[in-house]
Amino acid sequence: MFHEQTLLLVEVCFTLLTTALLVAAALGVGKQAELRLWALGNVVACLGLALGVQSGVPTFIHAVLSYGFMGLGQALVLRGLRLYAGQDLSLKSLVAIAAASLLLPAYFTWVEPSLTGRLVASGLGFAALDLACLVTLLRVRDRTRAMMWVAATGFGVLSAALILRALWLLLHGDAPADQELVANGTLFIIPLAQVCIAFGLVLMITRRYAEELRRLSLTDRLTGAYNRAALSTLGLRLLQRARRSGRGVAVAMVDVDHFKHINENFGHAAGDEVLRQLSALLLAQLRPGDLVVRYGGEEFLLLLDGLNGTTAERVCERVRKLVVETRINLPNAELNYTVSIGLSSSEASGHELEKLINAADSALQKAKAEGRNRVLLG
Ligand code: GH3
Ligand code: MG
Ligand code: MG
Repeated sequence: MFHEQTLLLVEVCFTLLTTALLVAAALGVGKQAELRLWALGNVVACLGLALGVQSGVPTFIHAVLSYGFMGLGQALVLRGLRLYAGQDLSLKSLVAIAAASLLLPAYFTWVEPSLTGRLVASGLGFAALDLACLVTLLRVRDRTRAMMWVAATGFGVLSAALILRALWLLLHGDAPADQELVANGTLFIIPLAQVCIAFGLVLMITRRYAEELRRLSLTDRLTGAYNRAALSTLGLRLLQRARRSGRGVAVAMVDVDHFKHINENFGHAAGDEVLRQLSALLLAQLRPGDLVVRYGGEEFLLLLDGLNGTTAERVCERVRKLVVETRINLPNAELNYTVSIGLSSSEASGHELEKLINAADSALQKAKAEGRNRVLLG
């Protein structure tokens, strides 16, 4: 039914194409170690496949070494996936997988010679590696999950094909004609699964890269709080949602008191540390749905979802007290600082971002004028 040499040519072409795809993607999205491992794994496995179909070469090469290369190639792919999932696959495990991929066919070549034994044992070994890849992918729980399913399908199909082939060979024994049919059938499935896997991996890595760029474009480098670009999109969305569901929103403008003195007396690095710690304190004190935005140099804007003026005043008072109690440890000194907070709420100013910010800003100026280190509701 299948012509072996044609299938083989197709397989080699597909491997070259998928490898080129992975390498091109690796160049396009910066230095991603995962992609390099996937591309390298593909090349090594392809080499193994090519050795396996050579006739007229010593048995060691086509019946043993080829499996070693295929095992090592798969292990490299698995290592890349584990890296992607935030896990590790040690070099020792990598070597162990390659060694097992060599020893299994060696056993069935010299110790207990059996072609079926060799194909079944190696096939099941590779199926186990594909399943390990699948399981690693299923553990990824970020926004690239939808893309992950493309590659997961490829690994699933590949392991299913290998397991079915092993079972079929166990049931039907050593008839060479049958073996050829099944081996070629598997050779037909492999390139299709390979395309699925390569496309899935490229989609995953580019999606993750896009997410990272998005995150960077919305956050302030120094403090990790949102920046003003995020305020105009996420802030508006928060207000729209609150208005639609009839929830109140409070806006707080938090400003460090006499921050210029901190810079002058302790240095710019100390000032930066104050900003980092204040941002961390704000993020820890607010709820996940709230927004913490670095609005200016030493000013943070808080959007407090579902709070009215009075409840927001209580939250801000708690923040103010915590800041008073905070000691910032510097290499040669210790400093403390205070903040002034101006508050506005949707009951008084409506759900319009600009009006809320202006009202909070006026309240902040009053708090400064009244002596600083206080919360004032406008
Ligand atoms: P006030 O109590 O009235 O708020 O006085 P202030 O000194 O805090 O306010 P002012 O606006 O006069 O000074 C703010 C300073 O913040 C000036 C600027 O050099 C400093 N600044 C702005 N961005 C940064 C930053 O990223 N790091 C550091 N260390 N300082 C910054
Ligand atoms: Mg200030
Ligand atoms: Mg200021």
